[in-house]
Amino acid sequence: MRPTGKLHLGHLVGTLDNWIRLQDEYECYYMVADWHALMGEYEKPQEMSEYAVDNVIDWIACGIDPQKATLFVQSEVPAHLDLFMIFSCFTPLGWLERCPTYKEQLREVKTRDLHTYGFLGYPVLQAADILVYKADKVPVGEDQLPHLELTREIARRFNSLYKTNCLPEPDAILTKASRLAGLDGRKMSKSYNNTINLSDTEEVIRKKVSSMITDPKRIRLSDKGHPDVCNVFAYYSIFAPGKDPGLQDSCRNAGVGCTECKKMLAGHILERLAPYQARRRELIQNKGTITDILADGRKRASAAADKTLGELRRAMGL
Ligand code: SF4
Repeated sequence: MRPTGKLHLGHLVGTLDNWIRLQDEYECYYMVADWHALMGEYEKPQEMSEYAVDNVIDWIACGIDPQKATLFVQSEVPAHLDLFMIFSCFTPLGWLERCPTYKEQLREVKTRDLHTYGFLGYPVLQAADILVYKADKVPVGEDQLPHLELTREIARRFNSLYKTNCLPEPDAILTKASRLAGLDGRKMSKSYNNTINLSDTEEVIRKKVSSMITDPKRIRLSDKGHPDVCNVFAYYSIFAPGKDPGLQDSCRNAGVGCTECKKMLAGHILERLAPYQARRRELIQNKGTITDILADGRKRASAAADKTLGELRRAMGL
């Protein structure tokens, strides 16, 4: 996860819930991808270290267990860049230039210039991140599948060039994209300023929920609503499934107003976040714990990554 801002509800239901499940089934490595963040945010890297710690606090508060998974910061494990360098030497430019996410980002992102050497190589660093742990499986959304395919191609090319079978070709564990839209109905993103952050206070959460866009056809209290097209109702299905069984009918019959409906939703979100926020407060009181967890993660990650790097260098005759 790139440390580019505070984590929000989209991260919780799109990524962290999934990570929590995976840590019980696999040996997991969860990484603060600060080098990746720098590739996009090279003009303003100052807040990255602060976000890195803050994000890890959120991970642990939400249920990521450092006893089960290895949590670390990418830039603290130098083998990632060593392997990135090795892979960069033989990855054809064409593989990177035709990457759909690369083309899309160049087209869509207008706030910074991504026509850089580093940004083109983003998927090569991802390949290094994955293969340095000889990962068998990688949890990815569908949009990231081309990157994983590139990783598989890089592993194949390495094995073929140096006549080895050191590197496995990892498979995807497909994860569903978050169903949660932002407060305004667009994709939830800090760039759109439409997020509810995991660390927001009760007052801020209530205010944000009260500003949510609802069924656009429901203008007056007496208008009948359409919960199936209402973003507020979509939140209900995630944060309060089955808790207000009569709500849909009430909305359709103009029995409940949007203001009341949003007040109830804010209560459900706060209830879901309460144990997490209590844990977050404890962790903030004791930031040394996070430093220790990341130091331990760095050791564990470095041991595994250095072992792979040594093996690959021997295969290359370096
Ligand atoms: Fe949406 Fe609730 Fe208003 Fe119905 S009552 S339109 S579900 S906010």
